[in-house]
Amino acid sequence: MIAIYARVSTEEQAQHGASLETQVAACRKHIGITVEPVQEFIDGGVSGTLLERPQLTALRQAAERGEISRLVIFDPDRLSRKLVHQLLLTEEFERRGVVLEFVNFEWQHTPEGRLFYSLRGAISEFEREKIRERTRRGWLAKAYSGQLVAGMQRYGYKYDTQTKTLAIDPVTGPVVQEIFRLAADEHLSTGKIAQRLAQQQIPSPRGTVWWRDTISKILRNPAYTGIAYVHRYDSGNHNRERHADEWIAIEVPALVTPTQWAQAREVIYHYQKIWKGRQEVPMLLRRLVYCGVCGHMMSTNIRTVKGTTYRYYFCPRRYPRKFQTVTPQGRDTLCTLPWIPADSLEEAVWHDIVKVIDDPQGWRAAQETTEHEPTGPSEDEQIAHELQRVQRSRHRLLELVRKDLITLEDAERDLKTLKGEEQRLRERQTALHTLQPSLATLIADVRTRMGPHLDSLPFATRQEIARRLINKITVSIGEDGVINAMIQFIGEPERPHQS
Ligand SMILES: [Zn+2]
Repeated sequence: MIAIYARVSTEEQAQHGASLETQVAACRKHIGITVEPVQEFIDGGVSGTLLERPQLTALRQAAERGEISRLVIFDPDRLSRKLVHQLLLTEEFERRGVVLEFVNFEWQHTPEGRLFYSLRGAISEFEREKIRERTRRGWLAKAYSGQLVAGMQRYGYKYDTQTKTLAIDPVTGPVVQEIFRLAADEHLSTGKIAQRLAQQQIPSPRGTVWWRDTISKILRNPAYTGIAYVHRYDSGNHNRERHADEWIAIEVPALVTPTQWAQAREVIYHYQKIWKGRQEVPMLLRRLVYCGVCGHMMSTNIRTVKGTTYRYYFCPRRYPRKFQTVTPQGRDTLCTLPWIPADSLEEAVWHDIVKVIDDPQGWRAAQETTEHEPTGPSEDEQIAHELQRVQRSRHRLLELVRKDLITLEDAERDLKTLKGEEQRLRERQTALHTLQPSLATLIADVRTRMGPHLDSLPFATRQEIARRLINKITVSIGEDGVINAMIQFIGEPERPHQS
């Protein structure tokens, strides 16, 4: 039903006798024609500073029973003379699903109205905050007393409803111990540990893939030595740590000894250092070398055997990508190009670069007498093709997320990789379109700047020259096992080269 509330105080009644009727009439006019029953709640001769008013109480009770859909009042003063009461009552009615309407109150157009409404918003926000605070305090009190709330989950443990504590999980607990053993005793990297677990078909905490990050997080978690911390991260931003004073330590059964934990830490640190060093290994032709079998841009890698470092270019399509089906034939077939030792490839390419710089005319003449095979798609076309592939992979991932086949979190890593790949492709695309000066101009520039001592140039300079002169190097292996490198200089068609 629709309710009308009207009120006058004793003084108001004495001053304007018709006031109550005026209010009710205005409210009825506001409601207009309706099929819903309308009920009047009228407090005559009652002060607006009190909340204890017979008809107001009846109205609030009716609202509580859910009988009222709309409440029409002449202005907020009728509800109460006190702003706080106005706010509390409004809040109460709205909480009960009552639509509140004032006839003579333009909250959008008057300063009072705007103040009223903003205060009202602040009050309901305050109420919500108070509820949240109460919940959190209850949770903290439990944590302080050494008990954990049931919602708290940690890999390797399970919540014991009897003792209200964490106990070692008979299934995942040993997995944690195995991870620490592989790191501390076998000195395996997080990637290798992930491989081992996958080989043993042990499901990850999320039941999907073992990521290096997951392993790393487990190995860094001090909780496994017997002390877990709660209240450690900001509730709003889970990456922000609170001040250590605020953390609450809880004793849990230890899964590893502090020594094992420290050893694992050292192993992680060791691999981190190697990884950082690896990034700095110079590759003269990074992102210039393409696979002669499948056409993909080649990646680089290093291997260290007995203290000697070997650098390689390899085709990433030798290895199956995640979510890619590998068919015995067709374009998803894995690539067969073996790893190419970087030293010999770079030496051969540099030899060619020097030849071209020393004698561009001679090189050009030699090139004109050579018969060209059809050059195939240009790099530009290949980049466009690759960009389409990235786009398709992204759609496929999002489709998997949409179908709940993988979690968004798991997909994020791959999306990030795709984004990086796309960015590199776009950069190369821009470079192709902006850096197309004639080869002769480039060579002349390099000659004047470098002089005759091309072979004694520092690495960074040689790399810059290679990047400025070469568009693309296509590598393949001949039937005799010899590496073929086809160098395409900027602005020139491809030509074969024997190394
Ligand atoms: Zn390939």
